[in-house]
Amino acid sequence: MTRLVTSGRSGDFAEHVVNPPVWRASTHLYPDCAALREGVKLNKDGNFFYGRRGAPTQWALAEALTELEPGAEGTVLYPSGVAAIVGALLAVLRAGDVLLVTDNAYDPTRNAAMGLLKRFGVEHRFVDPLDHGAFEEAFCERTKAVMLECPGSLTMEVCDIPALAGIARDKGAVSLIDNTWATALGFAAIKHGCDIVITALTKHVGGHSDLMMGAASAGERWYRRLRQTSQQLGHVVSPDDAALALRGLRTMGVRLKQETESALAIAHWLEDRDEVAHVLCPMLPGSPGHDLWTRDFTGGCGLFSFVMSGRDDAARCRLIDALELFGIGYSWGGFESLALPFDVEPVRSKMAWPKAGWGVEDRYAIRLSIGLEDCGDLIADLDQAFAAMNQG
Ligand SMILES: *Cc1c(COP(=O)(O)O)cnc(C)c1O
Repeated sequence: MTRLVTSGRSGDFAEHVVNPPVWRASTHLYPDCAALREGVKLNKDGNFFYGRRGAPTQWALAEALTELEPGAEGTVLYPSGVAAIVGALLAVLRAGDVLLVTDNAYDPTRNAAMGLLKRFGVEHRFVDPLDHGAFEEAFCERTKAVMLECPGSLTMEVCDIPALAGIARDKGAVSLIDNTWATALGFAAIKHGCDIVITALTKHVGGHSDLMMGAASAGERWYRRLRQTSQQLGHVVSPDDAALALRGLRTMGVRLKQETESALAIAHWLEDRDEVAHVLCPMLPGSPGHDLWTRDFTGGCGLFSFVMSGRDDAARCRLIDALELFGIGYSWGGFESLALPFDVEPVRSKMAWPKAGWGVEDRYAIRLSIGLEDCGDLIADLDQAFAAMNQG
């Protein structure tokens, strides 16, 4: 938590103001031709060149994120979380390579593998991250990268990241992880063996549902590749958004703590409902993945899912439509609570749904993003919405 307050404040401005000024600039002015020529040569953060290489506001945010990620040498900012994922994959892959993608990855990650990367000659295989044998067997000589995500999108499975990253390392492949759920506060990805850690800042870091941004952090070797590729792609984030992300970052610790506490209470409450067959919340004792989560993670967040017991899609929609405090919408990690119906059959190739041991009807699921409302109010809202569902 202290690092959240102190990080990214080494710039010249720091003696005079707490927050870096919003430095809007495409053009930087040089005192003379000699300085202009020097400026071109030195391509590093903190050296003025041209707006596309950033300015103090963006550098302060990147510096803060690097300081928060143990083992990172630097951080590249991207205009969205998806831009960070695709930018990082483009930085490590070339035509002819094979990419392994965890089967429960964020849907746009799967789409990038099946679409853009395929068009540029990169093959992909989806792998079940809970099946280490199959994971290892999926490697071939051309496998150059592994894209991990934990917990899995929507279905929340927790995989053994140190084990999977270790297998990737032994096979000579670079491991990338989408760590948006836990952030660097909840899971130190590089320390647990990953090479590149990606975060959608849109979610917890922004925290107020008013900006889109992504980041990728890495040690020395991969940071240089990330930066070079991002510069060639022409990625840049606005200084206004960087200032908003920095503002969000300062309070992320207390927000996550509060959201985790409420999410855990709500998950407990849902566990006892007849209408609920399975609660998929890694922080909840007895929930799938809880043991690994306890072993590797230092924090959680407000995002988890549950599966209805023997209800159909219409019942699920009645429940969601009756909610008054929960918004219906994509994204998560904001101060407001959200509910989202989801169906995973179309976005899984290897992992079964319903899961082994579940009833065949246990398939209609809802993801909740718990915000900063009073937890008792959220439970009361869910209670009245279940009643509305049962009446229908
Ligand atoms: C939302 C999300 C992203 C993408 O972030 P955007 O800023 O919306 O592009 C990436 N990964 C996960 C797990 C997400 O939930």
